[in-house]
Amino acid sequence: MSTITLLGTGTCQIEANRRASSVLLHLDNTYILFDCGHGVLQRLLEAGVQHHQLQHIVLSHFHADHISDIIPFLQVGAWSRRNPRTTDIHIYGPAGVQKIIDGLLQVFGPGSLQQPSYEIIVHEITQPHFKIGPYSLDFISLPPADNHGLRFTWNGKRYAITGDSYFHDEEIAFLRDVDLAIIDAGHIEDSEIVQLAASSQAKTIVCSHLYREIDAQQLQAQSTSAGYQGTILVGKDLMTFVL
Ligand SMILES: [Zn+2]
Repeated sequence: MSTITLLGTGTCQIEANRRASSVLLHLDNTYILFDCGHGVLQRLLEAGVQHHQLQHIVLSHFHADHISDIIPFLQVGAWSRRNPRTTDIHIYGPAGVQKIIDGLLQVFGPGSLQQPSYEIIVHEITQPHFKIGPYSLDFISLPPADNHGLRFTWNGKRYAITGDSYFHDEEIAFLRDVDLAIIDAGHIEDSEIVQLAASSQAKTIVCSHLYREIDAQQLQAQSTSAGYQGTILVGKDLMTFVL
């Protein structure tokens, strides 16, 4: 069974019920993590996945709330006594990701974050499409923070996750007619979510990256009267969608 699980629906804020931004894709037998902010590794475990089962992490951009759990992720792989890593780690991101990972290895000392028995392989993605094994993914630049959204097709349906995005034409185009959209709703106003819903007609929109609580019912009513035909949900950590 393939699934999408929201591991973190929060932000840089420290909150009891929301970890920082992260979405776990489970496609066939491959796990792909999109963003890896604080507290997300704990959520990974709560979702039933051990750190060493995860080999692919995609970073949308380099804000700390999207990448900071990379440090414990690398450390636990190298030093866990329970389930140390035996397989390579692939980290994907925009230009500059190599420098970030090299920097971490330098700051902490390579021996503290890696073992010689596996490799950390960094992939700088400079094209709008890339592959992880057999899976084709779109990696689309969405302003303002050098951010990139991730989009893919699975069993004929389209899925899109925005990372950190404001409301703009690129975002509407990115979400147009997708079946499930997980959006950064925290950086935009309710009125912009309504416009995004009505102009993109994404079938289900899940509000995530929440800097504030959102009233889904009210947004749904406003969006419907603006011509939106789909459904708006408010994300919660560990919410799962079967693909
Ligand atoms: Zn963010």
